[in-house]
Amino acid sequence: MIKTGGLLKLEKRIAHDLSIISYPVNGWIPSKFDEQGKRVLDVLVVGGGQGGLAIAFQLLRERVQNIQVIDAAEAGQEGPWLNYARMPTLRSPKEVNGPDLNIPSLAFQAWYEAQFGKLSWKKLNKIPTELWVNYLKWFRKVLSLPVQNRMRLIGFEPLQDNIKVKIECLKTGNVQEEITRKLILATGIETPGKWSVPPIAQKIPKDFWFHTSEMINFDLFENKEIAVLGAGASAMDNAVRALEARASGVTLYCRRSELQRVQPFKWLSFPGFLRHFSELNNEWRWKFMSYLLTLREAFPKETWDRANRFEEFNIQAGADWEDLHLKDEKISILTGKGIFEADFLIFGTGFSIDLRHSKELSPHAHLIALWSDKFKRTRKEDGESNLLSYPYLGDGFQFLERLPGSAPWLKNVHLFSFGATMSFGPSGSSINAMKFAVPRLVHAITRDLFLEDIDHHFESMTSYKLPEFSLPGEETELAPATTDFYGKKVGT
Ligand SMILES: Cc1cc2nc3c(=O)[nH]c(=O)nc-3n(C[C@H](O)[C@H](O)[C@H](O)COP(=O)(O)OP(=O)(O)OC[C@H]3O[C@@H](n4cnc5c(N)ncnc54)[C@H](O)[C@@H]3O)c2cc1C
Repeated sequence: MIKTGGLLKLEKRIAHDLSIISYPVNGWIPSKFDEQGKRVLDVLVVGGGQGGLAIAFQLLRERVQNIQVIDAAEAGQEGPWLNYARMPTLRSPKEVNGPDLNIPSLAFQAWYEAQFGKLSWKKLNKIPTELWVNYLKWFRKVLSLPVQNRMRLIGFEPLQDNIKVKIECLKTGNVQEEITRKLILATGIETPGKWSVPPIAQKIPKDFWFHTSEMINFDLFENKEIAVLGAGASAMDNAVRALEARASGVTLYCRRSELQRVQPFKWLSFPGFLRHFSELNNEWRWKFMSYLLTLREAFPKETWDRANRFEEFNIQAGADWEDLHLKDEKISILTGKGIFEADFLIFGTGFSIDLRHSKELSPHAHLIALWSDKFKRTRKEDGESNLLSYPYLGDGFQFLERLPGSAPWLKNVHLFSFGATMSFGPSGSSINAMKFAVPRLVHAITRDLFLEDIDHHFESMTSYKLPEFSLPGEETELAPATTDFYGKKVGT
């Protein structure tokens, strides 16, 4: 990235802003070592997307410094943005501030204005997706966040009071073990679960269909008839990409008789909801979430306009796919509205949360409390039963035991993905909620680390003897203005 004068000036402003709010500067967590004498991490964050970066930033602000972030992707390729997010701009309004956690000079707007000017910001409609990626890369660099790429978490288990993790280095294939006191999974929107397709997809050879989360060679679609199932934003983005790739026709099929045009997530973007949703009782949380999560998100107006530029674009509402057949390289789609034909299918059918589908979590899935353990759905109107498979998280995004006493170590594993939504509302994997959710998560981490070490802190306090001033004739070491009680100077 070429640094303009504006960006350099901004970086100086950030250093200054952060130094103003850096108090207290003391590192405060005592070092721990494993049996081999290796330092135990205080926190391992898995996932260096926007969520993992924001968490690392907040941990460092709270002087939790012995942390590591790992990501399986190449640096700069984290998250969906350059992979399968097939939209030219973010869907959120440009004013949404996220990873900056309310430090104005770190916000996307400040970064954008520093390079392109205030007038350009005013004229900007939505944030171009590539610029969002460049912003995240800059955010990570300017804050010196400790991210290691091409490192994949492949499993974890309890080890005394800590968690032992297995990490595969994707460059060398080597597997290493680390011990960490806290493990945070910021592993992406579809986790812990999997991208879902209806079972009828299996009736068609895989060469003929794709899920929106896959890498797709759109050149295949030239002069072909494409059928897209789903009425969410990703289904629509993929339909547009197929149209742009000169498909002879693209039809979007959806189950409901009317398109979802209302964006309920816009309604809920207010501090009361975003900050306090998790404090509601189960009944209220279920009521809100079963309404919100059974609705599809409306696609933005820009996406709608992009699709409707093409005469080849059609919508079949109220036409759920009941069956599929392939004959002579043509797919017949049986719907409640009749039979349609296509050359290729795209499933924009989202993902389903299910711990058993997560490689890292499946060995522990039977131990983890789900909504089905805490909430009894008594009437059909109570919403879709698949919401019961969301984990039922504790107040700091930590997993809870299904059976009390069976796996107390789960309190040290925190989930910061869409899987947290039933318990916290928009939180993990939501830009608009980050500034509420990340501090809450980090609050729980610092609370737990402090309470676990309480004997140490008491001992440290009672042995702290540095006077503020010396008596006449006395030569003694005085308390410095800012001290790291554990003997290590900490900067900002
Ligand atoms: C197509 C699409 C478009 C979206 N558009 C918007 C939008 O416009 N506005 C908005 O507010 N939200 C949007 N979202 C929702 C949300 O903002 C994004 O999903 C966002 O990327 C979530 O950030 P994250 O850090 O939680 O996860 P991600 O950005 O997905 O990052 C997770 C990271 O974890 C890594 N990882 C996963 N498993 C492992 C492992 N075992 N070991 C090591 N690393 C691992 C992955 O490599 C990945 O880089 C969109 C989501 C999608 C899917």
